[in-house]
Amino acid sequence: MFRTSMNKTVRFAVRQLCSTSHVPHVCVVGAGPAGFYAAMHLAKNINSIKIDIIEKLPVPFGLVRYGVAPDHPEVKNCINQFTKLAKQKNINFYGNITLGQDITLSKLRQHYDAILLTYGAEEDRTLSIENETARNIIAARNFVGWYNGHPRDKNLKVDLSGNKAAIIGQGNVALDVARILLSPIDQLKKTDITEYALQAISESKINELYLVGRRGPLQVAFTIKELREQLKLKNCQTIWRENDFIGVEDVVNNLQRPRKRLTELMLKSLKEQKSQTCSAHEKTFRPIFFRSPNKFLVNNGSVSGIELTCNKLVGDKLEDQKCVATEDKEILNCNLVFRSIGYKSIKADEALVFNSSGCVSNENGRVIEDHTTEELAKLYVAGWLGTGPAGVIIHTMSNAFQVAKNICSDLQTGTGSHRDGFDGVRKHLNIPIVDWNGWEKIDKYEVDQGKKSDKPREKVTCINKMLDIATK
Ligand code: FAD
Ligand code: NAP
Repeated sequence: MFRTSMNKTVRFAVRQLCSTSHVPHVCVVGAGPAGFYAAMHLAKNINSIKIDIIEKLPVPFGLVRYGVAPDHPEVKNCINQFTKLAKQKNINFYGNITLGQDITLSKLRQHYDAILLTYGAEEDRTLSIENETARNIIAARNFVGWYNGHPRDKNLKVDLSGNKAAIIGQGNVALDVARILLSPIDQLKKTDITEYALQAISESKINELYLVGRRGPLQVAFTIKELREQLKLKNCQTIWRENDFIGVEDVVNNLQRPRKRLTELMLKSLKEQKSQTCSAHEKTFRPIFFRSPNKFLVNNGSVSGIELTCNKLVGDKLEDQKCVATEDKEILNCNLVFRSIGYKSIKADEALVFNSSGCVSNENGRVIEDHTTEELAKLYVAGWLGTGPAGVIIHTMSNAFQVAKNICSDLQTGTGSHRDGFDGVRKHLNIPIVDWNGWEKIDKYEVDQGKKSDKPREKVTCINKMLDIATK
């Protein structure tokens, strides 16, 4: 039955729905934060609901497990809430099932009253410039997956033997990558970073890391907490280019609060750098602004530098100013490049229609379709797949709650068919399926492995091994 956040009319309707013994059966596709938070809202508001969470990997939690940096364990606390939910009798987790590969959307829709798509944004955006596929130009997405043990990225080839590296993009993912590369190894040892990444990073020769932004200090996408962490890294000095900050002090007081505090921190750090001597530090972190990569320079198939175009900004509102290329170019020599310019969603199933922002077309989470029929489950979307690949977990949570609220109110107007849910879906599948019990076996195995080296866990990175452990 609906509880707190439902209005009286909806509560009454759903109570009726339950008393006529119709049990709404909902399928959530994607076991990341959007999927879990939406399921949490649905389960809280409709007592009798049955929810099946279908996930591509044998393990749950999406980017909480495979995106969030290993040195940010507190961010992963939401896993405790998700686990509590998954243990409820009416909630089922079915891992190792890929929408669009193991089962089509149209098949799935025959077995449920509603389908909520929350399969995230699994690809990364590219620059589409010359030599982008050269060796040692790495998508931040893959590097993050590599240090976090994503099965897709476990064999990533990343050569850390050169001393100069550059990251393109100035968002929080870029800062995660920078911090992992520049942190003292003792700081990483006690985290759940994969053993192979720890070993490679401990041997890394990178001591000069550039963070290349196409716009200026007033437009950076990273946030203050993440910058503060970077500035506090031991044995690493941040070196800004003074010219990049011309005019910034004049406008700082007019900025909105979060942007103002962030800018003040950059200005403070710029002032401090003048009184510091570089020799005391092993490594340097060098943000540079107003530069876009024009092409990559290559030596023997491997990146040797970036030709940068110098930009100027145009537009009235500071934060929304756009960059425009000038005639000027600059060369940045480096042996390794990370492209960190954002993620993008893929069309997992050909029946899906995407909008011009690269998300499943929707209105408040209700998928916009040309035509559908009563026999098919209603379709919804939440999280990065519906909003675009921006926002932290708390933003994803409020979007998921909002979409779930809409699902609740739509379910009350449903006719109350009796869908067979996963019992019906299972008949279409001929693959090993990992349920919550199976995940708990993997979880225990990882935690036990981690104990050997005083880490919270050592992740299993091979799908077959996950399946072995889960089905024993
Ligand atoms: P996801 O978390 O990506 O979940 C999608 C799920 O769907 C995954 O489990 C995936 O395996 C599954 N899936 C994909 N395709 C299919 C398919 N075809 N069939 C079935 N399942 C499928 N936010 C913070 O608050 N703090 C942080 O420190 C933080 N760090 C981040 C670090 C990185 C590198 C990134 C990229 C993001 C970070 N975020 C952080 C943001 C946060 O991770 C997102 O807001 C959130 O994960 C989005 O949730 P989602 O459920 O939409 O997508
Ligand atoms: P993001 O915040 O959107 O940053 C993308 C960066 O790439 C921006 O600096 C952007 O510059 C730049 N960029 C985009 N296209 C470019 C191009 N063609 N050429 C050059 N630069 C380009 O994306 P993200 O870093 O992938 O992060 C995704 C979301 O996850 C964000 O909301 C982030 O806050 C969140 N996240 C949070 C944490 C955390 O809380 N610790 C950690 C990681 C991620 P412009 O601004 O000029 O477009």
